[in-house]
Amino acid sequence: MKKHPVVISGGGPVGLVTALAMARQGVEVVLLESEAAIPQDLRAGTFHPPTVEMLDALGLGKPLLEQGIKVPEWQIRDRRTGVVAQFDLGVLADVTSHPFRLHCEQHKLSTIAYQALQDYPNVRVLFGHRCTGFTQDADGVTVALSTPDGDNEIRASFLVGTDGARSTVRKAMQVEFEGFTWPERFLVFATPYDLREQGFTGNAYIADPDEWCAIFIQPHKGPPGIWRIAFPTDPEMSEEQILSDAFVQSRIQGFLDPSREYEIAYRSVYRVHQRVASDFREGRVLIAGDAAHVNNPLGGMGLNSGIHDGVNLAGKLVDVLEGASLELLDRYTRQRRLTNIEYVQAITIRNKRLLEERDPEVRRERLDELRMTAADPVKAREYLLNSSMINSVRRASEIQ
Ligand SMILES: Cc1cc2nc3c(=O)[nH]c(=O)nc-3n(C[C@H](O)[C@H](O)[C@H](O)COP(=O)(O)OP(=O)(O)OC[C@H]3O[C@@H](n4cnc5c(N)ncnc54)[C@H](O)[C@@H]3O)c2cc1C
Repeated sequence: MKKHPVVISGGGPVGLVTALAMARQGVEVVLLESEAAIPQDLRAGTFHPPTVEMLDALGLGKPLLEQGIKVPEWQIRDRRTGVVAQFDLGVLADVTSHPFRLHCEQHKLSTIAYQALQDYPNVRVLFGHRCTGFTQDADGVTVALSTPDGDNEIRASFLVGTDGARSTVRKAMQVEFEGFTWPERFLVFATPYDLREQGFTGNAYIADPDEWCAIFIQPHKGPPGIWRIAFPTDPEMSEEQILSDAFVQSRIQGFLDPSREYEIAYRSVYRVHQRVASDFREGRVLIAGDAAHVNNPLGGMGLNSGIHDGVNLAGKLVDVLEGASLELLDRYTRQRRLTNIEYVQAITIRNKRLLEERDPEVRRERLDELRMTAADPVKAREYLLNSSMINSVRRASEIQ
């Protein structure tokens, strides 16, 4: 009997990496992307050590390392008093071959993965093809599409939804997207002003009840790079006010030099959620990446956990296509859903609460605790194993 392809809906970084992981094992894959080309918008830009290891195993490590900036050290600061804690991922060199955060825009990973897929005749990437729904039976899935030539259908052995936070596949699975949306939107802008001049490491978080912020260096037309900075905004403000020169300058001047005008290369505003789908599988249909879970960017974990999903799921789908029981796919849900809740949701929510704490007593206690953690080699190591996502990947592999 002819084996139908695995259809992946969504050619973001998670869909492309999932396709590559299966393509390398000889699986026939059809990847649907609703846009006409790989989306180039600026979004996530941090890769943690286990993610770089996974991408390296897929042959993507070298080009990504060439295009990114290695950030071994990062800081937590208090807006008023300066550095509270500085961590060095170098202490994890005995457990990871990549003891640093790799900063690189996600669209560069997408482009590299898309280029790698060109070597596999068993993969077809169809741009301008939107998945609109599916029906399934015991043997396969019929995927409904809207294409530039009209509506169509593809028969698939499995359908994987990597179609982002508003996932059509997740909605058609009728699973809940459990969690909440933060009231404030996040302003993200970028400046070429080199924050290292002010003692900042390539990644830093500044605690403040009103104007906390997160800072990430990104590659930009050669060294020294560009600095992406994320701030919370008042829910009452309009998007126009948030994106105005005056507001953006007031945020950056607030923690740098108030008398200086900073060049702003890019700005955007977006809404942030903490949500996890109640199930990642329904029969032969699965979800991964933002389709399955979303979180705030404090800790840089969303895209990373999506790639961890994709690599995990690809391995299990290969096994099932080679004869393993379909129930193996429930292990994918157990492993990836639980670790997203226990690690990604818990850590990113805790990071946000730490930065925005208003009660001076609680704030002092939490920052003191971090100071002590950074100063104690045993505690610092445990903290780094969690924040680098090494522990979440270890934990997932233990779940049966
Ligand atoms: C504005 C914005 C800013 C962000 N900034 C940060 C940040 O600073 N730090 C951080 O860690 N994370 C950030 N994120 C989150 C991060 O970008 C995501 O975690 C990451 O993109 C997830 O990758 P993905 O492949 O799962 O989904 P996506 O990147 O969303 O990719 C989904 C793909 O599916 C396609 N698609 C959608 N529907 C369909 C359909 N029906 N059929 C076919 N194709 C479809 C889309 O065109 C898209 O290419 C941001 C997200 C947004 C929206």
